[in-house]
Amino acid sequence: MDPARDGPSAELLSIGSELLAGETVDTNAAHLGSSLAGLGIPLRSVRLLPDDRAAIAAAFAEARTRVPLVVATGGLGPTHDDLTREGLADTLGEELRPDLELEAVLRDRFAAYGGTMPESNLRQALRIPSAEALPNPIGSAPGWWVDRDGCVAVLMPGVPSEMRRMWTEQVVPRLADRFALRPVRSRSVKTFGIGESALAELLGGLLESPGDGIEAGIYAHDDGVHLRFWTRGDAAILDAPVARATALIGEHVYGTDDDDLADVTLAALARHRVRSLSSIESGTDGTLLAILAEAARIEGSARYVGGLLKEGGETSAVAPGADATLHMDLGPSDERGRSRIEVTLSGVIVLDPLQTRVHGSGAQRLRRAAFAALDQVRRALP
Ligand code: AMP
Ligand code: MG
Repeated sequence: MDPARDGPSAELLSIGSELLAGETVDTNAAHLGSSLAGLGIPLRSVRLLPDDRAAIAAAFAEARTRVPLVVATGGLGPTHDDLTREGLADTLGEELRPDLELEAVLRDRFAAYGGTMPESNLRQALRIPSAEALPNPIGSAPGWWVDRDGCVAVLMPGVPSEMRRMWTEQVVPRLADRFALRPVRSRSVKTFGIGESALAELLGGLLESPGDGIEAGIYAHDDGVHLRFWTRGDAAILDAPVARATALIGEHVYGTDDDDLADVTLAALARHRVRSLSSIESGTDGTLLAILAEAARIEGSARYVGGLLKEGGETSAVAPGADATLHMDLGPSDERGRSRIEVTLSGVIVLDPLQTRVHGSGAQRLRRAAFAALDQVRRALP
């Protein structure tokens, strides 16, 4: 790990004995992990900690030796077991002092609700000298931003709604500034008909070392397995690994970036003089129709004019007004959870029956089947 080259990373301390007792699920970690990934500051670890001053102080001290950003949620309440402020003060060797401005904000907040502030809430107006208070417009606990000795500590309330708002409004802009974050640029290569592990094998070293300052990952979706490259550098450096991956993967690639399988298939049909398409499907609950109806209308691609759901086994004629009709039958799933799909195309162009299989259950099985049908047509129309 080289922060100068790889950029900053973060650790999260989720504080509260209720988290360790299994009474509360740490949803803050999921939210912050995903947000930090988007910012390009990957979260390296999450630690659940009890409301224990010494344990909190030790965890801050350890995390500060490893990463330039330590985020903590929880333990900022008004009661004696909320000890996150004390823990960090101990770590930094600083003293908690009353902040009169914070105190006034708290008193105003209680007055606005027609009450007087309990003395215990005064703990929330304590601050160490190096902490900048982060306003909490929907709760009583202010957060802290503490930038000292090359490491930033961020304290936020545990209540998820308060944490999220403070994170978005107060913390993210400060992080962008403090860590001079450059946006993450990414490009995707979209495939269908090849599994994650087969794809990884095919790509070999390109996956592990896609290039200087570039990272790569493989993600399975209903519309196929996507290969993603990203960087915090210049977007143009992603073109080379995208081209190399596309060449290595070959026929399984149906597009890149914003391309979607339905659009790509409709464009392939248009190249074969099909300007309008209808569909007839069985066993899919209208999933193919829904996907095709959602497809963007790209200039010059075949227009989808609607579909029929076939109940029985009768053969249907081409719908009037469409240049071609896509027929798709999805069979029941077998004991191994696999279902057989039969696809034919009739009209201006006629394709021999195409067959494929999908894995899965429920709505995912139906969506995968519909995408598999589209992929069969795409492959048959170079
Ligand atoms: P605190 O800031 O410690 O007073 O936390 C207040 C409340 O927020 C707790 O009682 C929990 O219900 C909730 N909470 C605290 N930490 C988390 C967390 N990591 N994820 C989800 N909810 C939390
Ligand atoms: Mg707590």
